[in-house]
Amino acid sequence: MELNLKPLALPGIDEEQRPIIIAGPCSAESEEQVMDTARRLAAYGIKIFRAGIWKPRTKPGGFEGIGKEGLPWLRRVKDELGMLTTTEVATPNHVELALEAGIDILWIGARTMANPFAVQEIADALKGLDVPVFCKNPVNPDLELWIGGLERINQAGIERMAVIHRGFSTYEKRLYRNLPMWHVPIELRRRIPNLPIFCDPSHIGGRRELIAPLSQQAMDLGFDGLMIESHCNPDCAWSDAKQQVTPDVLDFILDKLVIRQSIQTSESLEMLRKEIDKLDNDLLELLARRMKISREIGTYKKEHSMTVVQTRRYSEILSKRGAQGALCGMSNDFVKNVFEAIHEESVRQQVEIMNKD
Ligand code: PEP
Ligand code: MN
Repeated sequence: MELNLKPLALPGIDEEQRPIIIAGPCSAESEEQVMDTARRLAAYGIKIFRAGIWKPRTKPGGFEGIGKEGLPWLRRVKDELGMLTTTEVATPNHVELALEAGIDILWIGARTMANPFAVQEIADALKGLDVPVFCKNPVNPDLELWIGGLERINQAGIERMAVIHRGFSTYEKRLYRNLPMWHVPIELRRRIPNLPIFCDPSHIGGRRELIAPLSQQAMDLGFDGLMIESHCNPDCAWSDAKQQVTPDVLDFILDKLVIRQSIQTSESLEMLRKEIDKLDNDLLELLARRMKISREIGTYKKEHSMTVVQTRRYSEILSKRGAQGALCGMSNDFVKNVFEAIHEESVRQQVEIMNKD
């Protein structure tokens, strides 16, 4: 299935000039906060202003967005500063209100993109309209679901589309708030090459220190734009305070970005190599996690006076993994060799634990 896409054709934006920047607060909080932030961003040449009016929150009781009361503030940003404005829509009513208020670009959030019913309702509300729609990835790393959502919007007749990679949620919170899993947007680019891809380093990182390195990584991977949360007083933000930066810091970050222009063929090779590097890192991290659990098992065996090598368990692992490997298109021998090596290292680590007093 191919998408019928047209260039975004955003007024006043040179789409060839990477990165296209969208910046603004996580949430519109007050007219003053919106205008102050927007003025400072505009002074740095930012042309697209974001602000959440309706906020999807994990738990009830948090700030759920100012609601339609904030729409005239975005209208002022557009009229007085000449910026384009964008906000998140999650229901047909949001679409109607946002468009009535003159919002230039709509975006669909990650939680909404995970729900085909909700995306279809938005698509139905968009029928016959010509407005750019940016679709974030669904919270779960399901490329087909992401593409399915894009197809729903596109089939409603929306041809000016882009995606925003904002990472994928996980049970265990570690370095990132949402895992980047770069291979997912890279595969999306391979499948739909003419679809502009933005990166949202604020929501991937969840911490302001990660915005710069993640933005650089997105640029190195050939992304077209960045959506970055910026607030006039980030520490006092009503939502996502830790991941927002002042307009001054944003300008500093953007100034330091290195934009490498590479020709198409080597760029795709470079992207594939980056994907391999990323997967190798993931492999190492997984192995390290596996070894950590092995060591915990080692401690258990020691406490219960068991032997390190439990032969039955070992043969079971080898035969199961060999068969699984064959199903994934790898040779049985290769998979056996890999698991033998892993097992050998596990045993070495458990022996180390046994010998510790
Ligand atoms: C946001 O952009 O503020 C937001 C809620 O994003 P996401 O849908 O990616 O969580
Ligand atoms: Mn946010």
